[in-house]
Amino acid sequence: MTVEIIEPHGLCAGVDAAVARALRLRDVYCLHGLVHNEIITGDLRDLRFKFVESVEDVPKGGTVVFSAHGVGPSVRRAAKDRELTVVDATCPFVDRVHRAARSFAKRGMPVAIICDPAHVEARGIADEVLDLPDGRALVPENGLLSDWPGGSGPAKGLEGRKIGVVAQTTMNADDVERCVAVLRGKYDIESSADVCAATKDRQNAVRRFAKTHHGEGSRVLVLGSPSSSNCRRLAEIARECGTGSLLAGTMDEVRALDLNGVDVLGVTSGASTPERFFTEAVRYLRNVPRHVAIVMDGNGRWASQRGKKRGEGHVAGAETLSKVLEWCGDRGIAYLTVYAFSTENWKRPKAEVDGLMSLFARMLKLKGGDFVRKKVRFRMIGRRGDLSKGLLATIEELERRTAGFERQFIVAISYGGRAEIVDAVNEAIRRGEPMTEETFSRCLYAPDVPDPDLVIRTSGELRTSNFLLWESAYSEYYFTDVLWPDFSESDLDKALESYASRHRRMGGV
Ligand code: SF4
Repeated sequence: MTVEIIEPHGLCAGVDAAVARALRLRDVYCLHGLVHNEIITGDLRDLRFKFVESVEDVPKGGTVVFSAHGVGPSVRRAAKDRELTVVDATCPFVDRVHRAARSFAKRGMPVAIICDPAHVEARGIADEVLDLPDGRALVPENGLLSDWPGGSGPAKGLEGRKIGVVAQTTMNADDVERCVAVLRGKYDIESSADVCAATKDRQNAVRRFAKTHHGEGSRVLVLGSPSSSNCRRLAEIARECGTGSLLAGTMDEVRALDLNGVDVLGVTSGASTPERFFTEAVRYLRNVPRHVAIVMDGNGRWASQRGKKRGEGHVAGAETLSKVLEWCGDRGIAYLTVYAFSTENWKRPKAEVDGLMSLFARMLKLKGGDFVRKKVRFRMIGRRGDLSKGLLATIEELERRTAGFERQFIVAISYGGRAEIVDAVNEAIRRGEPMTEETFSRCLYAPDVPDPDLVIRTSGELRTSNFLLWESAYSEYYFTDVLWPDFSESDLDKALESYASRHRRMGGV
């Protein structure tokens, strides 16, 4: 099965901004969900967010967050009456629809809202209209307009009246266009109905994919919560375009998908789906390892084959490493560990060791900003006491700056698998814990990092060379003759393809 990522996908600017604001808060109330996504809701619960359906449920004087979907004026007034501190995360595009609806209503026009009347955003827009004296909100129903919230039959008294039309931002853009055309044929309307650009772009991307891949063997998988209007629309659009669609909101749901007979799977996600879930799901679907570890061997041989100094080989190797880190990120690999300098490497000539140490320091200073920008957590494993104070300070400063990021880049310096085991034993004794595999693992250098799924070794050597002895007990190994400075994107893909073709039994059958 080929897994194709449908671009653009995922978090829109409105949700991204709302989540970034919310993540700075603790112990506050949030009116409805901040966005329609259970993973983000779970993150906020961890920050002691309490979700309420009405501002009346927020204690007087408390702090309330208004979600990206926005609220109407009656809710803002109620919050003011309760002397609440308001953190308003309303998306500017939703705000624009509110202003358009209010402006129509202020001009004395009934306002038709193309929407799902049960959606929080639609309720806020309707409130904007109904809050005005004589404000009248309508919803399209079977080609005619009904009084808000619909279901009461065609509205009366609209003859000879101009009607303003707006739309909920997350509707199907084609449906909105069709609906406006129908209304125009039956009523005198002025329309500012449109879905937001992020919604439209994601919907158009699914249409493009579905047009080129339709038929039995193709599906669109929408990653995101079924409660998200945005996600449901994407799935609907794929179906309308003739491609079957699937919706999954959690990794359990992704694992449970029936993909039998699917040759091409297009994967997209709604505007409120966190990228980490998307990456994890794509990684799983493509059978990409979560953790890749690499023994970067062959810098010296690469240099001597070209009549260069060994140091030049190490510089070329460092450049390859920067690219490999990038390629691993593109492929959804969450952890990359590299063997940069072993406990045994201290025996090399002093000039080479000094050159390597200053290369590490230079690279970290040069690349530190990139790690922050690309949200990569940098970590070192190995015997820190062996390093110079200056290098250690540079390493630990970068570890602090990147500590909050999920994707991890782990560099083994002054590292040996046996040394790590010895250090872990001493740590376990110091802690006085009974020795089990679990308690022992907790004493390793990076106990929270999952064991490597795949260990790659370059330059044709067929040894583990004291690398991750404990952690690689069930890792798959991939050996290549390519010297590390020559290791290319296609070499990485060959290793990943080899991994994907293996059946990992982990000691079972
Ligand atoms: S989907 Fe559009 S309207 Fe909704 S939060 Fe995102 S950018 Fe804003």
